Amino acid sequence: MPEFTVLNPATEQAVTTIPVATAAAADAAIARAVAAQPAWRAVSPGDRARLLRGFAAVVADHVEELAGLEIANSGHPVGQARWEATHVAEVLRYYSAAPERLCGRQIPVAGGLDVTFLEPVGVVGLIVPWNFPMPILAWGLAPALAAGNPVIAKPAELTPLTALRVAELALEAGLPAGVFQVLAGRGSVVGRRLVEHPAVRKIVFTGSTDTGREVMAGCAASVKRLTLELGGKSANIVFADARLDRAAATAPQAVFDNAGQDCCARSRILVQRSVFEEFMELLEPAVTGIVVGDPALPGTVMGPLISADHRARVASYVPDGAPVAVRGSAPSGPGFWFPPTVLAPVGRDDPAFTDEVFGPVAVVMPFEDEAEAIAIANDTRYGLSGSIWTQDVGRALRVARAVEAGNLSVNSHSSVRYWTPFGGFKQSGLGRELGPDALDAFTETKNVFIATED
Ligand code: NDP
Repeated sequence: MPEFTVLNPATEQAVTTIPVATAAAADAAIARAVAAQPAWRAVSPGDRARLLRGFAAVVADHVEELAGLEIANSGHPVGQARWEATHVAEVLRYYSAAPERLCGRQIPVAGGLDVTFLEPVGVVGLIVPWNFPMPILAWGLAPALAAGNPVIAKPAELTPLTALRVAELALEAGLPAGVFQVLAGRGSVVGRRLVEHPAVRKIVFTGSTDTGREVMAGCAASVKRLTLELGGKSANIVFADARLDRAAATAPQAVFDNAGQDCCARSRILVQRSVFEEFMELLEPAVTGIVVGDPALPGTVMGPLISADHRARVASYVPDGAPVAVRGSAPSGPGFWFPPTVLAPVGRDDPAFTDEVFGPVAVVMPFEDEAEAIAIANDTRYGLSGSIWTQDVGRALRVARAVEAGNLSVNSHSSVRYWTPFGGFKQSGLGRELGPDALDAFTETKNVFIATED
């Protein structure tokens, strides 16, 4: 079997070497999942709930270990990595309540009784990107298992370590073999096989819009069910009546979190012209104060980018002569470092304004009034998230309704809470994850009519 060397992006040193799954290995895993399915869907709701609660507890017992793996594999700062591992346990616990509440309906009809059942969709393929390997795994895994489906996860080739460990913990928690498998391998091989294989009934894909489009086309061949969480180019809209100090203090973290490798990054900061200069003055210390460095140190806020290739791609958005308004610091020496960078002024056709940079690069642009703010915010093929800063509740609601995005926050930058639905408008995705309705994406509604008259 071919092997892949996992690198620590903060040091460029090898962490470990892992075997890379082939298409034949994917076929074998799919066969195991198909074989595991009847027994898994037959587990009683109460027992499935207990197994998921047990799985959550085992993950919670291994938060430090999982966080350590993510620090080494992805360069995530330690506080963030601990949050991510804890989040896996929380998402599993949240959906452990679902099997016992997976209620169909009884619908009044003439001549009999009509009931609906929420049947498991079948084998689920989860294709996970490298930016948040643990949370994104959990968002698909937990509701899919709760609904009675076996799951095969394919982590990104660059970041397989936590997913592989979570699969071991599932077995330790007593989940039957074959119910949750992880295949570390290439997207173009293993990912494609999951998309193409007729026995896989549902794909959950998170990643770039271009690959998502390819996955969608592949799913069309067998009319496979599909959830897509794709790119973003979200706006952070700051009105003149906002609490400017808070808006400026929090704007950097809303885009530089996870070194900007976040589909919800508010990478277009739109500021009402009358307070633009004041905002920029407040923004500067907030950006230069970001501690970029060794992810294992507790004070670190931002780590490295994921790879040398990705750093080169991010750097292409800040060419020589780019209008750098603020630049933070980054370590020199080994590691895929890139400093937090704010560009202004930029035009609406600048690639830094139009493209998902997926790195610590933000643009700041002035606007005149509410109508222009909305027009600029919606001037993108994406529609994932965004923030609105104002003290005027009417304006907050008007703008929140007008911005074409799936996840908006007012006077904050919250995007992902496992209690609430998450997903994108336009080319940011298809369907929703998380929240109380997530099981809809992993079940088929079956309608049964029982005649009561001879
Ligand atoms: P991709 O969209 O290519 O990768 C996401 C996942 O899809 C990975 O697991 C990848 O596997 C897999 N994959 C790749 N090709 C296929 C395929 N043909 N069929 C099925 N699965 C496939 O993202 P990249 O890693 O290439 O990142 C490129 C850019 O995408 C980033 O710079 C960023 O802009 C954006 N992106 C956005 C994300 C988001 O959350 N919105 C997440 C990640 C990236 P493997 O990596 O092993 O090849």
